[in-house]
Amino acid sequence: MDTVIVLFNRDLRVHDHPALAAACAEAERVVPLFVLDPAIPAGRRGGFLAECLADLRGSLRERGGDLVVRRGDTVTEAMRLAGETSAEAIYASADVSRLARRREGRLAGERIAFRCFPGVTVVPPGALYPSGENDHYRVFTPYWRAWSATGRRSVLPPPARVPLPAGLAPGQLPPREPYGAMRGGESLGRERAEAWLRSGLAGYEDGHDDLAGDRTSRLSPYLRFGCVSPLELAAGARGNEPFLRQLCWRDFHHQVTYAFPDINRRDYRPRGTRWAPGGEALDAWREGRTGMPIVDAGMRQLLAEGWMHNRARLITGNYLVKHLGVDWRAGLAHFFELLLDGDVANNSGNWQWVAGTGNDTRPNRTFNPLRQADRFDPAGEYVRRYVPELAGLTGREIHRPWRLADPPPGYPALPAGVA
Ligand SMILES: Cc1cc2nc3c(=O)[nH]c(=O)nc-3n(C[C@H](O)[C@H](O)[C@H](O)COP(=O)(O)OP(=O)(O)OC[C@H]3O[C@@H](n4cnc5c(N)ncnc54)[C@H](O)[C@@H]3O)c2cc1C
Repeated sequence: MDTVIVLFNRDLRVHDHPALAAACAEAERVVPLFVLDPAIPAGRRGGFLAECLADLRGSLRERGGDLVVRRGDTVTEAMRLAGETSAEAIYASADVSRLARRREGRLAGERIAFRCFPGVTVVPPGALYPSGENDHYRVFTPYWRAWSATGRRSVLPPPARVPLPAGLAPGQLPPREPYGAMRGGESLGRERAEAWLRSGLAGYEDGHDDLAGDRTSRLSPYLRFGCVSPLELAAGARGNEPFLRQLCWRDFHHQVTYAFPDINRRDYRPRGTRWAPGGEALDAWREGRTGMPIVDAGMRQLLAEGWMHNRARLITGNYLVKHLGVDWRAGLAHFFELLLDGDVANNSGNWQWVAGTGNDTRPNRTFNPLRQADRFDPAGEYVRRYVPELAGLTGREIHRPWRLADPPPGYPALPAGVA
């Protein structure tokens, strides 16, 4: 083949990139493209994305290529570039959200060859399905068994050379406005993954629920943007089951989203719940001012870092829907706006799990925030870190300031009847 466009999206890396590897193997010239499309909701992830793109451009340039950046509707811009370069095909990594699937459908209808490749998950969505009528797994444990037993493709090396056609204007990268606690890009993602596999992974089973210890990988933003290949990470985890289960949860929610693209809008399993509209309670939750310290600590971690510990996501999410009775979609929207790792499949799948409308086999599960706090933040260190008004309190007092005769100034009282 003469010229192939590789359309990047949520796969911002050169290592283990099946679409890029195939283009470099099959075509004389390869045009790596990223389109900044205003139709794609970016939340506050724009700065992280910009860092990913700058890093990817650097890696492609080292290999003789470049990252061509355009602005506008993805399909229109890809087709315009195809015209300019006389490309015969567009290659991309298959994705699962409604927007991504619509884009893929449109590209498939254009007058150019369009091929989708794996790369966004460990096991491609749709590859595993239970016997019977279901087109996807609705329950995690049987999916985990099938996922663990299925064959995998090999991890691919980065291409040695990316032969770019001459004379193309590369286009300007978006501004790198810093946001949150982590910086983007494949180089940093690989560094973090390597350090994690070397010295964090072994303690994962014991430490992953320790709120103050912060002993999870924090690789989620890198997986979200595809800076780290989930398949390569799974291979590197060398059978560490507790960690592999988490990567499997990620794949699980992706295969559910693939089959149920309305996952961010409609109950997956409607249960006729009547949700409260939100109002002040929702505002207080968003701001980390509910009066329940463990909830406020989680919400303030999100505000400060653009990231939140998984245990805190479970506690804060459960508190919003099960204690305050607010619609899960309001929580989802706030997380989606602020999280560096915010993505449709994981965010929606987890919110629906928490709300009892999704894939939890125990939909009535309610967390007692005080018991959660005592168990997962026994010394109150996590709360102390993110809620400075409570920093002077010791022991279990820190989780129950409303019981004190003299509650700390500046910290809200817990409204009656919500705990
Ligand atoms: C209400 C709620 C909303 C969430 N929204 C998102 C989101 O928008 N994006 C997102 O990536 N994760 C989301 N999660 C899942 C999980 O909290 C994060 O993936 C995890 O905290 C990221 O931290 P880590 O990289 O240190 O995870 P680790 O514990 O180190 O796990 C490794 C990787 O496994 C995957 N993973 C771990 N837990 C889950 C899970 N429950 N579901 C799916 N994948 C998982 C992530 O890709 C993660 O990076 C949400 C969870 C809840 C309860």
